[in-house]
Amino acid sequence: MAIFVTKILVMHELSIAVNIVELVEEAARSQQAENVSKVVLEIGTLSGIEFDALTFAMTEAVKGSLLQKAEIVYDIIQAVGVCEECCHEFPTDDYFTVCPVCNSMHTSFIKGKELKIKSIDLVTND
Ligand SMILES: [Zn+2]
Repeated sequence: MAIFVTKILVMHELSIAVNIVELVEEAARSQQAENVSKVVLEIGTLSGIEFDALTFAMTEAVKGSLLQKAEIVYDIIQAVGVCEECCHEFPTDDYFTVCPVCNSMHTSFIKGKELKIKSIDLVTND
C-alpha cells in the first residue's frame, strides 16, 4: 500500500514537471530561442509539492526538450503565517497551526503557497 501511495505522489509531481517544461518551451519558442540555459522555480513550503519527487520528475521531464542542458534552480519560499487575532507573523510549514503568541487557530498565509516559474534564461542565435 505504501508503494502505491508513493507512486501517486510521483505521478502528481511528474505532471507538474511536464507542465513546467511545456510552459518554458512555449516561452522559449515565442522568443525564437535555441535553448534554455537556466530556469528558476519558486516553490512555497505550503505548495503541496514533494520537493524530492519534483527534482526527480524534472530530470526526467527535461529529457529531449529545450531544457535538457538547463540549470534548474529551486527557490524554496518559507511559508509565513499571520495570526488573524493578534497579527503576529511567524514561519510555519503547516496549514493547521496555532499562533505562538496567543494560541489562536485563525491563521492566514502571507506566502508559501507559490509554485511558479520565476525566470528563464534563453540561448539565442544572435
Ligand atoms: Zn495570535
